Amino acid sequence: MMHFYRRRIIAVLFAIASCVSTAIHALPMASNVPGGVAHVVLGAVSDHAEAPRAWLGEQAVWVSAEHGQWIAVVGLALDLPTGTHALRVGSGAETRELSFVVGTKRYPEQRITLKDSSKVVLSTVDEERAVAEISRIQTLKRHWRATATGQETDANFILPAQGRLASRFGLRRIFNGEPRAPHSGLDVAVARGTPIKASSTGQILAVDDYFFNGKTVFVDHGNGLISMYCHLDRIDVRTGEFVKQGQRVGLSGMTGRASGPHLHWSVILNGVMVDPALFIKP
Ligand SMILES: [Zn+2]
Repeated sequence: MMHFYRRRIIAVLFAIASCVSTAIHALPMASNVPGGVAHVVLGAVSDHAEAPRAWLGEQAVWVSAEHGQWIAVVGLALDLPTGTHALRVGSGAETRELSFVVGTKRYPEQRITLKDSSKVVLSTVDEERAVAEISRIQTLKRHWRATATGQETDANFILPAQGRLASRFGLRRIFNGEPRAPHSGLDVAVARGTPIKASSTGQILAVDDYFFNGKTVFVDHGNGLISMYCHLDRIDVRTGEFVKQGQRVGLSGMTGRASGPHLHWSVILNGVMVDPALFIKP
């Protein structure tokens, strides 16, 4: 009986996955691993009931209506432990917990040599600056903007620039022999001055010039989905401005900690960096 039930669940998940590619506001591909995205089915959409709300810990999670079902689209942090996790779901005044499983993924290792070792072993001044910036970026990552009807979050992303995919998401990085944080984005090798395009429609959440990320633009796509474009040579947008998919946000470069000109592109979902490749159609 249990086996049959499980097969039915799998059949439903397949049905969702096969419909996604044709939906206008497509969901990212599901990948239940650290750095991936989980789809948690919350129940059928009803005309009378409001959309359910969902949280992972204290962080609100995007809930999308897809083919008659409410689906929580949950970003899974790279450092999230594998195993069973609980999603808190609120419908009206009621709150319940739904569990979902996160499997393992071993990302490859990458060794990088930087000529400028001051960007690996930091001076006290640089260290203080970098720590302050990381805290500011952390606040931006948790930003939440609810979207109005008709302006739903569109996760059907385009690559911000055409080029060789140089470093994939999740690489366990060693800079000049020193282990550092894993790679939290996707690097696209592009010459300096290449136009960098917004991956989807959204609002500029912030622009800044950081020690590690260099000149950076954050685009808020609503419901906790944010994209980040780093190492830019020039920024062409202002905070608060709305951008369309494909609109230029700046020009590529190598500002911040970069061994050569490239775009570092990160995607943030419910406060955590997830694999941008899940948002691009294969
Ligand atoms: Zn990168």
